[in-house]
Amino acid sequence: EKRDGDQPEFLQAVREVFETLGPVVEANPQYEANGILERFIEPERVVKFRVCWVDDEGKTQVNRGYRIQFNSAIGPYKGGLRFHPTVTESVVKFLGFEQILKNSLTTLPMGGGKGGSDFDPKGKSDAEVMRFCQAFMTELQRHIGQFTDVPAGDINVGAREIGYLFGQYKRIRDEFTGVLTGKGLEWGGSLARTEATGYGLCYYTAEAMDKLRGDSFEGKTVVISGSGNVAIFATEKAQSLGAKVVTASDSNGYIYDPNGIQLDVVKDIKLGHRGRIKEYADRVPGSEYHEGCAGVWSVPCDIALPCATQNEIDGASAQTLVDNGCTVVCEGANMPSTPEAIAVYQKAGVLYGPAKAANAGGVAVSGLEMSQNSYRLSWSFEETDAKLKAIMEDIVASSLAAAEKYGTPGDLMAGANIAGFVKVADSMVAQGAY
Ligand code: NDP
Repeated sequence: EKRDGDQPEFLQAVREVFETLGPVVEANPQYEANGILERFIEPERVVKFRVCWVDDEGKTQVNRGYRIQFNSAIGPYKGGLRFHPTVTESVVKFLGFEQILKNSLTTLPMGGGKGGSDFDPKGKSDAEVMRFCQAFMTELQRHIGQFTDVPAGDINVGAREIGYLFGQYKRIRDEFTGVLTGKGLEWGGSLARTEATGYGLCYYTAEAMDKLRGDSFEGKTVVISGSGNVAIFATEKAQSLGAKVVTASDSNGYIYDPNGIQLDVVKDIKLGHRGRIKEYADRVPGSEYHEGCAGVWSVPCDIALPCATQNEIDGASAQTLVDNGCTVVCEGANMPSTPEAIAVYQKAGVLYGPAKAANAGGVAVSGLEMSQNSYRLSWSFEETDAKLKAIMEDIVASSLAAAEKYGTPGDLMAGANIAGFVKVADSMVAQGAY
C-alpha cells in the first residue's frame, strides 16, 4: 500500500484476492519462503509511452500508452488493450493483475498482461482512429511478439482497432504472426472469438446455477448492463437459454424493455453505426429510456450480469438488486462490483461469479486463436464454441474444488482466486527467483 498508494483500483483488486489466500499460503510454506506474494503483486515490467498522432485538423495530439507485462510464469503475457479516457496506470495494473489469475483458470498456457491508452475514440473519425492505432503500435511493437506478449481487445478496442494495430505491426516488423488476437477471420482470427466473453459468461452462469442450485436460465428475468461486445453476446446467449433480458445500457443511460430486448436493434445501433442506446426507445414501442447508467440496477430481476466497466455496482445498487429479488450476479465486466457490493451479495447468499472466472471465455478463445495460428489451421465455430463451453464448465469445477479443499465450500470467489493462484505460484517456485 505504501508503494502503490496512488493506485486505488489496483489495491482494490489485490485486497480482494489476498483476503481469500490465507489458508493456501499457510498450507504451502514454500510460497512464503520464495517471496511469492511480494513477487505476485510487482509487475515484471511496466512500459509507459508517449503516443503522438495528427488529427483531421492537422493538429498534433499527445496521449499516454501503457503495456504492463505482469507475470510470465505459465506463458507469454496475454491480455487486452483498452482505449478510454479513464485509463491510468492503476486501471491497467488492476486489469493485468486479474488477468494472471484468469488466464491460469482457463488451463491454457498464458501469462498475465494488459495495456491501453487514455485516448477517447468517441467522436473521432475512422482516419483519426487509424492514425492513433498506428502511432500506438509504432512504440508497442518493440515490446510484444507471438512468443513474448500477445495483446487483444478490450473496451473500445474491437475488430476495427485490432485491424489497424495488426497492419502497423506487420508493416514495421515485416512478419505475419499471431501477435494479436481478435483478428479478422480472413487474416488469422478465430471463429467464436467475438462471441466468446458473452457466451462464456452465460455458460459459466448456467453451470454454476446447475451445480449449486439445480437451476437454469429458463424463464428467468435478466438485467445486463452495457451494450458493447460482452453485453451483446451475453444477451444473445441468455436469450437462447430461455431467459428474458430486459435491459441494455451505455455510459449515458439505460433501456428497460419489459417485452425483452430486441437484440437486432441493439446490434444495428451499436455495431451498425456506433450510435447511443437511447435510440432503442425511439425504435421499439413499449421500451423506456432513462438517463444515468447506474439506474439499470433498480430494474427487478432474477439474474444480474454486469457487462460495462469497473465499480459499476456499489453497495447501494447491490442492496437494491437483492431487495428486488436478484439471487445471481455473475460478472462479464472486470471488477464491476465494489467491495461493499460483494459484502451485500455474501450476506444475502447471492450466487456470485467473480469476473476472473465468469468472463474468462474471451481470453480462453484468444488462447485458442493462438493455437490455431501456430498450427496454421482454423477450427469451425461449433468446435471452438464446444471447447469454450468445456473450459467455462471446468472453471466452475476447479473453483468449487479449490473452495472445498481450503475450507470455503460453495464460494466461487475464493475458489477462483485459489485455483488461479496455485498454478502460477507453483510455477514461480519451480522457476526460481527472478
Ligand atoms: P466495449 O467497448 O465493446 O463496450 C463497453 C460498454 O460499456 C459500452 O456499452 C460502454 O458505453 C459501457 N461503458 C464503458 N465505460 C463505461 C463507464 N465508465 N460507465 C458506464 N458504462 C461504460 O467493451 P467490452 O464489451 O469489450 O468490455 C466490457 C467489459 O468487459 C470491460 O470491463 C472489459 O474489461 C470486460 N471484458 C471484455 C472482454 C472482451 O473479450 N471484450 C474479455 C473480458 C472482460 P459507452 O459506449 O457509452 O462508452
